[in-house]
Amino acid sequence: MDAMIASALPWLIAFGAALALAGAVFALWQSLRTAFGAATPGAPDATMELTSDARATLIDRKNAMLRNLKDLEFERQVGKISEQDFVKLDALYRQKAREVLEQLDVEVGPWRTEAEKLVKAAVAKVKKDQPKPAEAEEPKLPPERAPQLKCPKCEVVNDPDATFCKKCATRLIEEPAAPASEEKPA
Ligand SMILES: [Zn+2]
Repeated sequence: MDAMIASALPWLIAFGAALALAGAVFALWQSLRTAFGAATPGAPDATMELTSDARATLIDRKNAMLRNLKDLEFERQVGKISEQDFVKLDALYRQKAREVLEQLDVEVGPWRTEAEKLVKAAVAKVKKDQPKPAEAEEPKLPPERAPQLKCPKCEVVNDPDATFCKKCATRLIEEPAAPASEEKPA
């Protein structure tokens, strides 16, 4: 009896882990739905009911599969079936068990996708609501101005193409050929 349980234990653990994962994903999805108040199209409560029924069926099948594996092990131990038959049936039951696990996984899939969508939407919303400091504090460069000539003597700003200061008549552009003569007293 102990040996029988021991041989089934790895399978029990594997099933348990798979169910725990499925449960965790489902719980996450539900909590997200509640937290973000998202009305998720295509996933009304009626669908949820059906889904949990389907889950119950799968869990029943999983339990039946475990019983089959235990019975098989027992039958081999008491010599009721040949080693050859045991190997064959054991492989069959394990294949069925895998199918059940796959179905459980497929069933969880849409919830996981839905949960990911909700998280993405929530993150996008948070990002949108936040002000962008980089944009607000962008330094404003002064508009490009035409270079102006400032008279070195009276500091009056003259037109860029001016040769003499419009106020004090000081020469603003040095004449290449002539020696400096702009320091004449006014
Ligand atoms: Zn001047």
